[in-house]
Amino acid sequence: MSKTRIVILGAGYGGMITSKRLGKLLKAGEADVTLINKHDYHYLTTELHKTAAGTEPDSKIALPITQFIDQEKVTFKKGTVSSIDYSGNKVLLEGGEKVNYDYLVVSLGFHVSTFGIPGIKEHAFEVRSFRSSKTIYHHIQRQFALYKEDEDPSRLTFVVAGAGFTGVEVVGELVVKLPELAEEYNIPFDKVRIVNVEAAPTILPGSADAAVDYASRILDKRGVEVKTSTKVLECKEDNIITDNGDLPSRTLIWTCGVQGHHLFEGTGIETVQGRAVVDEYLRIPTLKNVFCIGDNSYFKTGEKTPLPPTAQVALQQAPVCGDNIVGTIRGTELRKFEYHHKGSVASLSEHYGVGEVGGALLKGKIAAAMKKVIGYRYLFFLGGPSLMLKHFFGGGTSLAKVAAKQQG
Ligand SMILES: Cc1cc2nc3c(=O)[nH]c(=O)nc-3n(C[C@H](O)[C@H](O)[C@H](O)COP(=O)(O)OP(=O)(O)OC[C@H]3O[C@@H](n4cnc5c(N)ncnc54)[C@H](O)[C@@H]3O)c2cc1C
Repeated sequence: MSKTRIVILGAGYGGMITSKRLGKLLKAGEADVTLINKHDYHYLTTELHKTAAGTEPDSKIALPITQFIDQEKVTFKKGTVSSIDYSGNKVLLEGGEKVNYDYLVVSLGFHVSTFGIPGIKEHAFEVRSFRSSKTIYHHIQRQFALYKEDEDPSRLTFVVAGAGFTGVEVVGELVVKLPELAEEYNIPFDKVRIVNVEAAPTILPGSADAAVDYASRILDKRGVEVKTSTKVLECKEDNIITDNGDLPSRTLIWTCGVQGHHLFEGTGIETVQGRAVVDEYLRIPTLKNVFCIGDNSYFKTGEKTPLPPTAQVALQQAPVCGDNIVGTIRGTELRKFEYHHKGSVASLSEHYGVGEVGGALLKGKIAAAMKKVIGYRYLFFLGGPSLMLKHFFGGGTSLAKVAAKQQG
């Protein structure tokens, strides 16, 4: 009898931890596991705001995948998934290669929602992947260089749309980096504007009033122009049109929302905002051999509201997904997924942060430190104490230079 084939799509938080779990649980020769990802590096999506602003070296954000998987049990394949044939149990990769599976894990992460607003797709920048974030940093640097030639003020107006967690984290890094760039290019910093536009009446919509007040004060103190109750209506190459006036700018960083992956479109799989509805075992109910986790999945069972697309959810789902694949192969009882919310923290630069953990409001340096602890904890899970310590002492990994050059 041929060996069971397990294929995992996407080496983000969900895919990496599922691979590790399967590597740990499967006996030698029990199944073939293949992990497929666009790039041969795993990037820390929750840190991409630092790549976008250039405040963290690439070596700390993009890590070589093969270093963190058990290569005796898991094979890594670099490839971009173009479609999935669910009835034929096949994954199609760009270039035409087909990969057959008996069990599939879909963990391909998010796509950015543009809500059909004109010009966003063409002119705005996305904090979506390592590469898209790196593009933002190169663009920002270029605006400083070009300002020296034409003194066009739109070059030095940097606008972040969305003041949710991702938006304020991007702004928090820009307030650190832009003064450094101004100095490097010998441009007075008072020529630089950082604007944060939010459609809701406050920043961090949905957060406690005290968190909103604190974050608003910090951003104000750092010179950020916060424009709440303001909707972006159109983005042009050198102008952003809002319902509260125009913002002449060549940099709109769009952090206004995410949706699931387009790979479910036209497949008949039930989706909500592009996320596949999954059952309590994290399977697609009509396809019991297909599991879906992280930002791709829409999990509501037993919850008042669907779980948000966060790393915290992906990281809790991944081990359950691994256990349930092994349980299905061995015919043992499956685990129901239960989510335990541990809190959420946004950094507002290196030294400030805000959020709630265990129901308590955290702010300032404690919150910033907590955000770092959460990051180190993940690195510990991924690569053990050596990876965590390497990052703590400023090391990182050597693949990042390769990653920075790779396109796609
Ligand atoms: C700036 C920022 C800050 C955040 N901060 C937090 C936070 O503090 N806490 C929190 O809980 N969440 C946070 N999030 C959200 C969190 O990062 C996501 O929810 C999480 O990354 C989802 O994990 P995932 O495994 O589903 O997908 P991802 O981690 O996005 O991984 C998806 C992987 O699939 C690959 N891929 C995509 N398409 C293809 C394809 N067609 N073929 C092959 N490979 C493909 C990608 O390259 C990537 O490696 C943040 C997000 C951002 C952008």
